[in-house]
Amino acid sequence: MAAETDYYKLLGIERNASADEIKKAYRKFAMKYHPDRNPGDKSAEEMFKKGSEAYEVLSDPAKRERYDRFGPDGVKSQFGPGGFDFDRDFTHGADLNDILSQLFSGMAGGGGSRRRGGSFFDLFGMGGGGGNDHSGPQDGADLRYDLQIDLEESLFGAVRELDVPNEKDCPDCHGTGAARGTKRETCKQCGGTGQVTMRQAFFQVSQPCPVCHGEGTIVRSPCRTCSGSGRVREKGRLQLRIPRGVETGTTLRVAGRGEGGIRGGRPGDLRVVLHVRQHPLFERQGDDLLVTVPVEPDVAALGGDIEVPTPEGASKLRLPAGTPDGKTFRLRGKGCPTLDGRGTGDLLVRISVEIPVRLNDRQRKALEAFREAREDRAYPAGGQFRDRAAEFLKKREEKLGR
Ligand SMILES: [Zn+2]
Ligand SMILES: [Zn+2]
Repeated sequence: MAAETDYYKLLGIERNASADEIKKAYRKFAMKYHPDRNPGDKSAEEMFKKGSEAYEVLSDPAKRERYDRFGPDGVKSQFGPGGFDFDRDFTHGADLNDILSQLFSGMAGGGGSRRRGGSFFDLFGMGGGGGNDHSGPQDGADLRYDLQIDLEESLFGAVRELDVPNEKDCPDCHGTGAARGTKRETCKQCGGTGQVTMRQAFFQVSQPCPVCHGEGTIVRSPCRTCSGSGRVREKGRLQLRIPRGVETGTTLRVAGRGEGGIRGGRPGDLRVVLHVRQHPLFERQGDDLLVTVPVEPDVAALGGDIEVPTPEGASKLRLPAGTPDGKTFRLRGKGCPTLDGRGTGDLLVRISVEIPVRLNDRQRKALEAFREAREDRAYPAGGQFRDRAAEFLKKREEKLGR
């Protein structure tokens, strides 16, 4: 194990160090290598990140055990570039009811807490780009935008204009939040680490410093433009091209249109999660489309052509004589285009025999004549039903009779 990946050596402690010793060692370590105390020193910054990583692992009994058994690989998956899959979060809670209220839910969720430096975890790893300590540049978080689209837009593609505010470093104070001619000052409460450690029963809990909110520094005279937040919001519009074949849950990524970076960090991405509205005619089933077509009883009985709407335009379907209610025909290749452009689903045409209402005289007479001409063999299901009903009633008599 190389010295830099040996968390114990890094913090200068024994392998059987107690939780308290680990904490103390880390505090000492942080005081020495914290970027606020080593401005511009890249190697100190690196060390600080590694030490924070070591502390994150060793202060968590479960992680520490995994580390002891498997080495850095045992805990690695949780850190570093690509270690996090933000998409996974976005599939949660995609409740169609609150989609509209979810616009920019990312801002309130992951984005916000991350920027405030919520835990040690936030000091490294999440951004993947490095420099996520609280004095250097910080990359912006990804934002989520839930967009409702019509089925037509998913079938044929579309271009939509989205209102997406840009949040970025205040141009007047360059994101520091400090008024012109002044600087941020090191927070006295946490000594610039941005963290305070508290003891609760057997646990020690590291929390963002309540005075500087994890920033490690505070503003004495706030910038007027941004009221000391260091951030300004401006209106932004963007054109989103929706490709053919998208469906509910498809996420379109717009690079660089997420939360703006802090102190020169890179902006995050905007992730547009699509929700296809229910359509009055078509129901999507994977790449297939289902359409239910009401058909007159005479057409179903005698056979005939019906017209079916398809994504390719109106299409004729020839019904054979004696088409039963609920029968489904499959029109190959007339469903939804697939997103990868490699194929098209099928159109499922379900027949729904419609019983006529508000008959005119001629129709009534024709139906009466039809009834008079009735023959059992025209209704095989009805005949079978009557046989079974008669059998049941006969058995009932037998049971009750004795
Ligand atoms: Zn400002
Ligand atoms: Zn503080």
